[in-house]
Amino acid sequence: MKSYKSLLEESNLKTTPQRLAILKELDKKGHASIEEIYEDIKEMFPSISLATIYKNINALKEENVISEVCLHQKPKFEITKEPHAHFICKKCGAIEDVPFEEIINNEIEKKYPNTQKELYIYGICKKCKDGNS
Ligand SMILES: [Zn+2]
Ligand SMILES: [Zn+2]
Repeated sequence: MKSYKSLLEESNLKTTPQRLAILKELDKKGHASIEEIYEDIKEMFPSISLATIYKNINALKEENVISEVCLHQKPKFEITKEPHAHFICKKCGAIEDVPFEEIINNEIEKKYPNTQKELYIYGICKKCKDGNS
């Protein structure tokens, strides 16, 4: 993956320590809600407000640096990647990326061009199945 800094530079957004920290958190967590990002960033920037996080998340989203993963629950965000499906654990809410086979993506693109493709798979994650959670 590209560096957080180059992601910002390509997006015309100013590189700020807060934005770099948000991208780093999303990269670490994979998918996170605004509140989850806030909890972790607060430790690095004790004076940062939730409103500032919101503003930055929205700016990053508008520039397509990050994507909103619309779940039935609270929206989560992730660094924008190739189209992929999401596996969601019905028990613990864990989210895993599932690669979209290119061929499936192409089929969808043929049928529904220029669409935002989201696919959700609901089930019980391995951790919950093994009873470790
Ligand atoms: Zn689970
Ligand atoms: Zn994802």
